[in-house]
Amino acid sequence: MSATFVGMPAFPSAARTALGNTQLRHNLAHATGVIRAKRAAVVGEVENWEELRLAGAAVKERALRSLDAHLVQLEESLTARGAVVHWARDAAEANRIVVDLARAREIDEVVKVKSMVTQEIGLNEALEASGIAAWETDLAELIVQLGGDLPSHILVPAIHRNRAEIREIFTRRMGEVGRPAPDDLTDEPAVLAGAAREHLREKFLRARMAVSGANFAVADSGTLVVVESEGNGRMCLTLPEVLVSIVGIEKVVPTWAELDPLLRLLPRSSTGERMNPYTSTWTGVVPDDGPQEVHVVLLDNGRTRALGDPTGRQALRCIRCSACLNVCPVYERTGGHAYGSVYPGPIGAILNPLLRGTGDPQTDSLPYASTLCGACFEACPVRIDIPEVLVHLRAEVVDAHRADRLPKPEALAFRGAAWAFGHAQRLDRTEWLSSLAGRLLRRRGRTSLGRLPGPGAAWTDARDLPAPPTETFRAWWRRTDGGERP
Ligand code: SF4
Repeated sequence: MSATFVGMPAFPSAARTALGNTQLRHNLAHATGVIRAKRAAVVGEVENWEELRLAGAAVKERALRSLDAHLVQLEESLTARGAVVHWARDAAEANRIVVDLARAREIDEVVKVKSMVTQEIGLNEALEASGIAAWETDLAELIVQLGGDLPSHILVPAIHRNRAEIREIFTRRMGEVGRPAPDDLTDEPAVLAGAAREHLREKFLRARMAVSGANFAVADSGTLVVVESEGNGRMCLTLPEVLVSIVGIEKVVPTWAELDPLLRLLPRSSTGERMNPYTSTWTGVVPDDGPQEVHVVLLDNGRTRALGDPTGRQALRCIRCSACLNVCPVYERTGGHAYGSVYPGPIGAILNPLLRGTGDPQTDSLPYASTLCGACFEACPVRIDIPEVLVHLRAEVVDAHRADRLPKPEALAFRGAAWAFGHAQRLDRTEWLSSLAGRLLRRRGRTSLGRLPGPGAAWTDARDLPAPPTETFRAWWRRTDGGERP
């Protein structure tokens, strides 16, 4: 049975557990550090990188502004070229379409190209529940699947695993689901990749149906695009008789020419490569060449909800490069599982609440999973202002809890501050009291408030809380006449 994110705790509690795992932190620090350095080197080679970012953002923005028209055009183009288009409002509808397609053809196993959207809708679990085996063919996804594990990174789903762990998973699990790992398997990357290649090959050759996502869907030509590094995608997209692609509606790009900046931004931002090793494009059905049945499921699953949010809609520009994850100080320490979703890191912290809506404790905790340092915005190839959206979503979460009978301590603190700051005299009294407390503490030789009682302890356990100053700014101003006189 596959693992799922359902029932994951809110971010603070999941992050605390993750922080206790030193092996995980070591794996993450190493892997994100390597990817960061590679990305910085290849991005530094492009003189007009900022212009390219602006161009990429503009293409996606243009697509989103007239999404309805582009989607209709995409459907027409796909249909004209022999593909069958299905529309799915949510995960359940999309899963039902894929299951029905497989059942109608008596297919009991499918091979899969790495795809975030199929993880988002829990397709593997839905297929499994209907007696259809779904085999992940991307190396990292295979590791996650065989390990009964969950992905923790958009690009490198098994980033939390090291080589020794992968060797152990292959040795233990491969034989149970197909060709076993060789007896002399070592933890050398090339040897592990070789074992995966042998294991997957029989599945590629046997499967009659493949399932993919798409990085882009070109409206004017009806072309779907998948970029990948291992060649497994190319095998899935060309060998089976039936190809089903599940495509989030935000993947639409109006014209073929507009792919240009996006295909230049994506590899440098994601794998730190100048171009993708494999860029597969296909347009409907070509007689006697590749799959003879092509189905495209256009999926909403919360995207129109996100589109309706004037600040949050920019998240739909995301091209899933994962650059924001690799530069995020929070992600580097907690890893992806703490976010409780297939979309972890800074983009996950905004995309999950936007797709699902706020109101659930787990989702509501995500906009706070950030220091707001802004590194994600700097790294994002399509200029998504993630900090802006995080602050916007925090406000939404706070607003949603305003009517709670028992306000949170934070809300009480802010109410107190609003009361004090709301009137000059009240502020004066509060400052006088605070400087009195500062003088008393210092008389006792204390420069800090130490550990606060109750919920305040959560704050002081991780931070120093200095004693209040003995003189307020306004008292100093009055005494010195603004610093003019000593
Ligand atoms: S938000 Fe930007 S940096 Fe993050 S995955 Fe999406 S495109 Fe990449």
